[in-house]
Amino acid sequence: MFAANLKEGQLEYLLHIPEPWYIDRVDFSLEAKQLDVYVKFRKRALFPCSNCGAPDQPVRDIANHDRTWRHFNFFEYLSCIHAELPRTNCGKCDTITRVNLPWAFRVIETIGTVHDGPIGEKLADKDYILVNDR
Ligand SMILES: [Zn+2]
Repeated sequence: MFAANLKEGQLEYLLHIPEPWYIDRVDFSLEAKQLDVYVKFRKRALFPCSNCGAPDQPVRDIANHDRTWRHFNFFEYLSCIHAELPRTNCGKCDTITRVNLPWAFRVIETIGTVHDGPIGEKLADKDYILVNDR
């Protein structure tokens, strides 16, 4: 397994997954040619409000317990990130919003089903995949 020689935090770094997020599990299937990365956030993690930007808002609840995002391929292997999607109830603007995820950007021109075929149909939200803006 490729991850066996990675030090603590290096796979998170490679996949652009910052604190308070961390990788809980990685599954790789040679048969399916797919890498699945399961990401969690630390207990009592605080997130900025995605409406007004106020920092350090506690998690109110989980909007979705198994969201899936398409990541860049890992060589020729399809790779996906799976995570719970938390919501905050902002103490400043009093708005309940989904937390902005560091690996998910809204995709305008590239939609999963257009370029990725069947995998796009498996995604919870076909409009979101990871795109590299770095
Ligand atoms: Zn707010």
